[in-house]
Amino acid sequence: MSSTLNLAPLSGWGLPDTTRPIVIAGPCSAETEEQVMATARGLKALGIHIYRAGIWKPRTRPGSFEGVGSIGLRWLQRVKAETGMRTATEVANVKHVYEALKAGIDILWIGARTSVNPFAIQEIADALEGVDIPVLVKNPVNPDVDLWLGAVERLNKAGLTRLAALHRGFSSAEKSELRNEPQWQIPIEVRRRQPELPMFCDPSHIAGRRDLIRDLAQRAVNLDFHGLMIETHCQPDQAWSDASQQVTPEQLGDILHALVRREATSADSDYQRQLSELREAIDQLDNDLLNALARRMDIVAQIGRIKKANGITVLQAGRWDEIVRRVHQRGAERGLSEGFLDVVFRAIHEESISRQQRILDDLA
Ligand code: PEP
Ligand code: MN
Repeated sequence: MSSTLNLAPLSGWGLPDTTRPIVIAGPCSAETEEQVMATARGLKALGIHIYRAGIWKPRTRPGSFEGVGSIGLRWLQRVKAETGMRTATEVANVKHVYEALKAGIDILWIGARTSVNPFAIQEIADALEGVDIPVLVKNPVNPDVDLWLGAVERLNKAGLTRLAALHRGFSSAEKSELRNEPQWQIPIEVRRRQPELPMFCDPSHIAGRRDLIRDLAQRAVNLDFHGLMIETHCQPDQAWSDASQQVTPEQLGDILHALVRREATSADSDYQRQLSELREAIDQLDNDLLNALARRMDIVAQIGRIKKANGITVLQAGRWDEIVRRVHQRGAERGLSEGFLDVVFRAIHEESISRQQRILDDLA
């Protein structure tokens, strides 16, 4: 169960424009005053309203550039004074919070390596008590919905209501063309549990490569995300951190121009009728699936009982292999992918085995 959050809608964040997607852009790191200002001018020209820059950088290994530190806050103040854009930076501890607040930073975000740690989040929440500044909470590096929402809840309990989740993908040991696996079902589950919590996407850290950002941003828009955070640098190839995933303001303009905007819903009566007919069909099919699963499990139990009576093992590896091959073949004929079928049938098989195991153990 998720607790109820007391949230202000995005319209109450005091932003100049909340047309979706709300775009937050700016460099991975503030490097020099010139780089910060040149990037800001490029973004202002695109009509961007929120400027991001990392001042304190969490790096995987020591010795990498760890951010310019507090001096960068003065550059962000200059961005705001000269362009009128709101400013955003990452805070990872109490010192960052105090300095960012003192400098008048408008929006804070909490990084993936911080939201994974409830002690760190609680300290940040305590430091922010009574200051209702907007905070974007990145997902923890591991795909744990409770840990992610737990971080949001800690901030909310400290009185912060202008909160949003920021999806930046998840670490994985598996090789992939992406730097962090999106695992879209995780932010979807967060939205199911907390529909009022705005959801942003950071396609830059998911991609790790600038050529993949456009498709990921479109995916997020298709899934009704409220906003995007996209790392943008006046000279991406010279960036001191995350060079390969940053885009120029001009490239950001192209990405945003190509985005197909979608509405969350439509009042059109034809659309509403078609949708409700199709949803009814889905509900009926889900019912059929549940009935079929229940019948399958009954038969599994009967098999378990005859196996037990005859002193036979629960698992016959050959039989499972035969099922997998048949499912792949019949699934392919119906346009169902092997990856999908593997997930579904592995779950069915696991449940079947555990039912028979319980019969053997006299628990059922
Ligand atoms: C960042 O936004 O620059 C950053 C460090 O992101 P993450 O916490 O997602 O790695
Ligand atoms: Mn970065």
